[in-house]
Amino acid sequence: MLRPLRNALRRRGLWPEAGLTNPCLGELPFEVLRDERMQAIWEGLDPEYVWDSHAHLVGVGDGNSGIRVHRDLTNPLKPLSYLQQKFFLNASCSNGKGCVDERFVERLLALHDPMPRGYKTLLLAFDDCYDEHGRCNHHLSAFVTPNRYAGRLAADYPQRLEWAASIHPYREDCVEELDKAVLHGARAIKWLPPAQGMDPASPRCDRFYDALARHGLPLLSHAGGERAVHGANRPDYGNPLRLRRALDRGVRVIVAHCASLGSYTDIDRGIKGPTRSSFELFTRLMDEPGYARQLHADISAITQMNRAGTPLRTVLERDDWHPRLLNGTDYPLPGVMPLFSLHKLAADGLLNEGDIPLLNMLRRHNPLLFDFALKRHINYQGRRLSNGIFESRRLLGATSP
Ligand SMILES: [Zn+2]
Repeated sequence: MLRPLRNALRRRGLWPEAGLTNPCLGELPFEVLRDERMQAIWEGLDPEYVWDSHAHLVGVGDGNSGIRVHRDLTNPLKPLSYLQQKFFLNASCSNGKGCVDERFVERLLALHDPMPRGYKTLLLAFDDCYDEHGRCNHHLSAFVTPNRYAGRLAADYPQRLEWAASIHPYREDCVEELDKAVLHGARAIKWLPPAQGMDPASPRCDRFYDALARHGLPLLSHAGGERAVHGANRPDYGNPLRLRRALDRGVRVIVAHCASLGSYTDIDRGIKGPTRSSFELFTRLMDEPGYARQLHADISAITQMNRAGTPLRTVLERDDWHPRLLNGTDYPLPGVMPLFSLHKLAADGLLNEGDIPLLNMLRRHNPLLFDFALKRHINYQGRRLSNGIFESRRLLGATSP
């Protein structure tokens, strides 16, 4: 990067406060480990229950992982996709020499070193796109992370890793795949409807919903606008109201990111209904008494710059929701430096200025711990994220014997 350009942007406050790229530093410095605030973030928590419920398993498929990435992601002539992929690999410190897939896992495991025993990460697999006839649409898939790979890593590192399967409900064999995933210890099913091309409101999902309800396995479904992954390119499938169908068939649903981006048609009022913010529609679902036991949400990514306004403040205020919320990091995104602005959080009264240097230091060494410590420090007029939110394990896994 040209230094004069960077300096000019910096002077105008347009340069990300922690720089553009993750410096991928190693072990935490002694002064961080010794800082009493680092002990305080674990207070009141049972580490056996502190699971990160939302972490992506990324790679390029060079390490027997079965990962596939769309050719646009490695094509410099598609600069947006290409740069995005570069950012993700940098965020997870897996680019550079050697096997990317292996480096991703090594780095992720190393980030667990300062975590207490019991702390675990739920790795999310990612299925292909399928069309309405159940045919696989390889060419549309932004990337694929096979269930087999996520399950294998969880089996290889049982002290630190858990996994969630990803199964497209239009697949002919979706129910068999689900049974298999449950048998192999999957703790949830992960969907990203706008990118994978499933419509959560479609009757085509019913077979799968019934099987999910039978297992009592939660469906971790992305809702709200999606900027990170394109694929099937059906933004409308991210409308949180489309998840009613799953809820009405008895599925436990975890709405990723509290549906905190974008806006959609209020389809409760018909296909020509007014446009509402995604978070407002999510709020409506959360406040329906009939869904109180089934509908959950994760708070991954809600401290990112583009989500930290109303959604984050509302989540802090609505402590009646807290027993239904789970923490997740959305790893490797906490390692994408420009996504967070600690000074903006402080200016909005959500973070104490004095905690910024410690958090910035954490960020450069350990994005997992940074995300966790940031959320433990976030407060709004004295309100905090309750301890229970961080003990995500209680809401994950099958409930059937
Ligand atoms: Zn995510």
